[in-house]
Amino acid sequence: MSTTTPHVPARDRSRQQIYDLILERGAATRTDLVDATGMSRSAVNSAVNKLIRDGKATELAPDAKGPGSGSGRPPVTVVPLASGRPVAGLDFGHSHVWVAIADALGVPLADRRVRIDVDYQAIGAMDIGAKLLIDLKAELGITDLQAVVAGIPGPIDSRTGLVKSPTILAGWVGLSPAAELGGRLGVDVHVENDAVLGAHAELRRGAGQHHRNFLYVKASHGIGAGLVIDGRPYTGSTGIAGEIGHTHLPGNTDLCRCGQRGCLETAVSVEALRGQLQHTHPHLDVSNLDLSTVTDPIGERMLNEAGRTLGRVLADLCNLINPGGVIVGGELGSSGPAFIEGVRSSIQRYAQPATAAAIEVRPSTFGIRTELMGALHLAAGKLSR
Ligand SMILES: [Zn+2]
Repeated sequence: MSTTTPHVPARDRSRQQIYDLILERGAATRTDLVDATGMSRSAVNSAVNKLIRDGKATELAPDAKGPGSGSGRPPVTVVPLASGRPVAGLDFGHSHVWVAIADALGVPLADRRVRIDVDYQAIGAMDIGAKLLIDLKAELGITDLQAVVAGIPGPIDSRTGLVKSPTILAGWVGLSPAAELGGRLGVDVHVENDAVLGAHAELRRGAGQHHRNFLYVKASHGIGAGLVIDGRPYTGSTGIAGEIGHTHLPGNTDLCRCGQRGCLETAVSVEALRGQLQHTHPHLDVSNLDLSTVTDPIGERMLNEAGRTLGRVLADLCNLINPGGVIVGGELGSSGPAFIEGVRSSIQRYAQPATAAAIEVRPSTFGIRTELMGALHLAAGKLSR
């Protein structure tokens, strides 16, 4: 990408920078914009006023945006306005396909979700995802999408776009989800690992906005991490950083779906928890059990234990990258305080003290919708560039 644009006047570049900032943050005061850009107050005012005249932004009174900035009269915020065609996101979980259409700023308009065994039915899952999206477009009367982003729960080689591991997503290996979905939808589709999309959602609109460095962990049917380092998602040399579900747990010999023994996922996943709950709650139908409904002391103890096991692995990762936040999503991250408290207690215990003291551990901002929100925000972000 070129970094020199000599034909673009400085005033236009400043205006684009301001617009990108309010898109990224969702809202900002004029003072925030001065602080973030280093521009003068008059340059910021001029850029904001032009964006408002062009219909790309508006200003909201404080009571329309919720709590203000503290004592005194809260300032007015500048917010972006949607102008442009809608975008779409698809989230392929291990057992669901979820699609959504959003306005040009990534604000969701409608979504549809179906349950399906995504792992072993790659073609079927992509057929269903594409049909859901085409039907949703028709329902909303939308003829054209500007950008589409899809997330899958497995490693994708960033050099080839192919699903990488023959063992983690068995039915998907060697496929190019971008090409498959693009062919069905008639539009370019960008595909990312789902935990990376979760990190995007938190970075742009969630708890990650407050941290330059953080980990987003999707703890669900599998476990993956999306890393944000120095304000940017980090995906490694071939795009597959963050596969922490296959970290070896000392003393654990359970066989993992990756073919190794003792992986974190064999002890901490939705299936592992359901299996454990079947032991302690023999009369409970655990087959599709929503773990957020587990609120009895024994069940919460097991969720806490699983959280502590995950936290033990995350503590080592925290020592490596010194994050300001660990944000836990997926069904387990959204199951309630018992699991999150387990993660927090292990990080506090096993990360070295100065590292642990700097870490905020919290559930994801958008619950189980985080990956889908990340897809929509990334699609909207592509549009604005
Ligand atoms: Zn494994």
